[in-house]
Amino acid sequence: MTHWLSVLVQTPAHSQVAGPLSYRSELALAAGTLVRVPFGKRETLGVVWDTPADGEAAPFDADKTRPITAALDSLSPLTDTWRQLVGFAAGYYQRSLGEVALAALPPQLRELSAEQLARRLKRQAKAAPASPAPAGQAIAPLTLTPEQASVISQIETQAGPFLLFGATGSGKTEVYLRCVQQLLERDPQAQVLVMVPEINLTPQLEARFIERFGPVYGEQAVVSLHSGMTNPQRLASWLAAHSGAARIVLGTRMAVFASLPQLKLIVVDEEHDPSYKQQEGARYSARDLAVYRGKLEGAKVILGSATPSLESWHHSRPASEGGRYLRLHMPSRVGGNSEPAVTADGRHNPASGLPLVRRVDMNHQPKHAVFSPPLVEAIKVRIARGEQSMMFLNRRGYAPVLHCTDCDWKSECPYCSAFRVFHKIDRTLRCHHCGFTERVPRACPACGNPDIRPMGRGTERLEEHLAELLDDVRRPDGQAVRIVRIDADTTKHKGELESQLAQVHAGDVDVLVGTQMIAKGHDFRRITLVAAVNADSALFSSDFRAPERLFSLLMQAAGRAGRDTGVSSDSEMWVQTFHPTHPLFDALKRHDYPAFAAGELKEREQAGLPPFSFQALVRAEARSQETAQGFLQAASASGTEAAAALGVTLYPAVPMSVQRVANVERAQMLIESPSRAALQRFLAGWHEVLHEVRQGPEGKGLIRWAVDVDPLTI
Ligand code: ADP
Ligand code: ZN
Ligand code: ZN
Repeated sequence: MTHWLSVLVQTPAHSQVAGPLSYRSELALAAGTLVRVPFGKRETLGVVWDTPADGEAAPFDADKTRPITAALDSLSPLTDTWRQLVGFAAGYYQRSLGEVALAALPPQLRELSAEQLARRLKRQAKAAPASPAPAGQAIAPLTLTPEQASVISQIETQAGPFLLFGATGSGKTEVYLRCVQQLLERDPQAQVLVMVPEINLTPQLEARFIERFGPVYGEQAVVSLHSGMTNPQRLASWLAAHSGAARIVLGTRMAVFASLPQLKLIVVDEEHDPSYKQQEGARYSARDLAVYRGKLEGAKVILGSATPSLESWHHSRPASEGGRYLRLHMPSRVGGNSEPAVTADGRHNPASGLPLVRRVDMNHQPKHAVFSPPLVEAIKVRIARGEQSMMFLNRRGYAPVLHCTDCDWKSECPYCSAFRVFHKIDRTLRCHHCGFTERVPRACPACGNPDIRPMGRGTERLEEHLAELLDDVRRPDGQAVRIVRIDADTTKHKGELESQLAQVHAGDVDVLVGTQMIAKGHDFRRITLVAAVNADSALFSSDFRAPERLFSLLMQAAGRAGRDTGVSSDSEMWVQTFHPTHPLFDALKRHDYPAFAAGELKEREQAGLPPFSFQALVRAEARSQETAQGFLQAASASGTEAAAALGVTLYPAVPMSVQRVANVERAQMLIESPSRAALQRFLAGWHEVLHEVRQGPEGKGLIRWAVDVDPLTI
């Protein structure tokens, strides 16, 4: 008997083939089965998306439909909830089902034949049998703090989703570990997904999970899933998760699509982090999909952060005001007392365990000082005590611009509307947008003046300057001060970041200089002084999310100071600023995220910005700005009526803030609505229009376009 199947295959973005394709098969295959099918002249991997109900006639001429090549039926079908997740993501983020479904599978799966896969599975099953009997119980070495105990019992007894709002160092990870432990002990099949924003943060977490659960469930019970892994590694992890052998999957945003047939708990650590938003292809938010997936699977969801996204914070307002998440609060640092960081009379309370925040008014410091004299003194004091300091600046390279003092030439990138950054270490000018790199000219290319100078500062220059300032300072052991810089330039090669971090952990470093990369997540034990060298640039940005990001970054950075209260009780966070009275710094000084959030949310509400409205962006790229904007305007004109009927606002097309990259002009158009449903309805209908305009005269010369739903940067 011949059966027909609808099958999803990888289709290029925006191709005409948007939905599933029809194939026939001699075997009846369940939805979710992986198959190999002919596609054009190739053979490719597909997912059986749908099967007809019994007796339903094939909606096509059976003789003309091609048969599938093979079914990968050594693998159990993907679950219904997995398919629902993919279906939802494709619809919500305006991408084709095939693109989302196939991107959610490990790349190597596309290359394996049915036989190769079967062999692979046999090998893997031998190495890691599915859910072996636990060898006793995991041993939790710590006694929970009262805050942890209370939070854990609420997670046990309530449905969630939960927003775990816990200060840095309040022991959130221990909460995750205990919740996982309780679940695994109760349910011998249950699986857990733990997401972190960055690859760099996975090894430390993986170590903690393996340490806790490896002895009981076997080391294979914990697997990672992120883009830093090789394709074979990713396939192995994916298969272990799919078969149930892996009980705990740790991963970055892509892991939200992992096949976890017994998923019962999802943890999204540092849920505020922008890295959870995919920036190309299907531009999904893994955090939002995690919440959706939790609902689909009946799995509990814990979002954790010391500085939640304003969206999640808003969702966790009291249920009586419309909140949908349950907010759980852990205000105190482990080892600190539970009093606020700042007392009622405005004085810092060192017993809280939270660092003292000091604002340095740069208006009153020597002109052009990079490090204010009091900060330099403070660094010296820490060095003398054998403690570590951390300086961060959100700009890598030596200087953001090179310029000629005579004719005012600047190191612009010929291909982008941006300056090329001066990297002194290899004497290059590098464009951070398109990658164009040249050796630094000996003299001004415009007028020949040999006196071309760096303008502004990056981390490389900071490191050099600090070395000069600390030249005559000695460590307690009499040796010279050791400074290490960690940023994207010093960690390009595999293993570099790990070895640099190891140096810091070992205490071989006195001062750590870097970008925001070092401010996040790392559990440094001996750092007692953290300084934001130039915190001002984000204060007056045109992006309405800039203050939120700055506050969160500074709080995270402060969280690196004094994590080990045994080392020093007077840890400090310094902020150098020309605007010391800015309310953002005031809230920071009190470690008062709720006050900051309340202020921001009020402004957002007045301005009708998210989370009080919902947005999507359409971006277009072309050789000329006119073409890019022309496409958007034509699409907008065709959507005006539908938008008006739904209460959706279409804003005019404008150039993007970095307008030209690699000689491509970029434009964007904002779409906004107070209703998420209305925005979704509009986008769903408008999608066709965009395709039509693309094919018409206004689409001529367009290189690409994409829709970004719930964009993070505007
Ligand atoms: P967070 O993720 O909230 O920043 P962590 O979970 O990393 O905090 O905990 C900070 C430190 O406190 C870690 O070194 C952790 O081992 C320790 N810790 C956590 N809970 C406890 C506890 N109940 N008793 C003692 N130490 C704890
Ligand atoms: Zn010149
Ligand atoms: Zn460039």
